Amino acid sequence: MSAQGYFNRFGGRYVAEVLRRPLEDLEEGFAHAMSDPSFLTRLEVLRRDFIGRPTPLLFAENASREIGGADIYIKMEGLAHTGAHKINNAIGQALLAKRMGKTRIIAETGAGQHGLATASACARLGLECVVYMGDVDVRRQQPNVAAMELYGARVIPVTSGSRTLKDAINEAMRDWAASFETTHYLIGSALGPAPFPDMVREFQSVIGRETLDQIAERKLDVEALVACVGGGSNAIGFFEPFRSLPAPRLIGAEAGGIGPAVGENAVRMTGTAASDGIIHGYKSRFLVTEDGQVAETRSISAGLDYPGIGPELASLGESGRIEFTSVTDDKALDAVRFFARTEGVIFALESAHAGAAALEIARNCSPHKAVIVNMSGRGDKDIFITSPVFRPEQWKSFLAAELSRLEAGVDIHLFGGN
Ligand SMILES: *Cc1c(COP(=O)(O)O)cnc(C)c1O
Repeated sequence: MSAQGYFNRFGGRYVAEVLRRPLEDLEEGFAHAMSDPSFLTRLEVLRRDFIGRPTPLLFAENASREIGGADIYIKMEGLAHTGAHKINNAIGQALLAKRMGKTRIIAETGAGQHGLATASACARLGLECVVYMGDVDVRRQQPNVAAMELYGARVIPVTSGSRTLKDAINEAMRDWAASFETTHYLIGSALGPAPFPDMVREFQSVIGRETLDQIAERKLDVEALVACVGGGSNAIGFFEPFRSLPAPRLIGAEAGGIGPAVGENAVRMTGTAASDGIIHGYKSRFLVTEDGQVAETRSISAGLDYPGIGPELASLGESGRIEFTSVTDDKALDAVRFFARTEGVIFALESAHAGAAALEIARNCSPHKAVIVNMSGRGDKDIFITSPVFRPEQWKSFLAAELSRLEAGVDIHLFGGN
């Protein structure tokens, strides 16, 4: 746990006065819920029947043989409902909000994965759902927007600033300041003002606790756990039971993008581009421009394309407990292809950053050791990004054919049964 919302010098609660009370209420509501057996039972049942937990730990036998060195294991978080770990947090917070008597949920989303998980959780629990999304993101993430609307959520395009994730966060904060009596703001990663970093870690720690049991069952001698780091929720949840132990090694993989220059990646913890800052209600390491503005970031994986990092990860990185590395777009794409070919598993582009880092560690490790990579999500969602790279010509003619089919006027009855 944090001390008063701080993880050493990171974290805190830097918000407008009006948001102090809702954050204090949330902290208290969360503490009560976590010591209420009926809340915990309800959460457990949702995890089992709705999310599909526990997720398996797969021995990547073929990949390990091909790489040589340690045995590689994959924590199959991508098998969770809606395709990634984000649902663990969404269902936890939505259930908490309901217990606190809230009827409406708001969320921010960039690529749409958190919006999707939140919309699904709200549909399941009968809560109204509003998702703020940058106008630019709404246009480029239509498949996720369509799914959110199918779940009954209202997606509000944000047209201020750069019209992307950071503007969506500002807009959600603004909504919450005026609506907190009835509304919970469901933040999507282990960041934001206290108590969000502690709360999101706790809801995601189910990944690490299952992994701990799976390690014990199979008597694995674990060298390292590897996770990708955007805001840091899958990493801190995976590492949770291990972070106060001296071993195994904990490795966080950030987005190396297309190169080391400022604006070409989303590397906060290595390199020299990041500095301490206070943005979106918390203190951490942020990528900023020379005049102190939030910098543009770049990554092929939308989920890692964020200028800040959760305060607990920043602190554990600084203390040396978590080692950080970065993986470029190209290496991540290679890892997607590698695990698909060797194991029949398509990693999400985000998770493939961890996959690539895990391969590197396993290769240089003695046999009989285990390296476990958290596959935070599955790659189905990335087909619009990977196909133009893997098979550009075929993809172009597919899209052209789809477009002319639509323009010719689709007869929906063709797809609607009789
Ligand atoms: C959103 C997302 C991430 C990054 O978020 P964290 O909070 O860093 O976990 C990683 N992987 C997948 C599949 C995602 O959808």
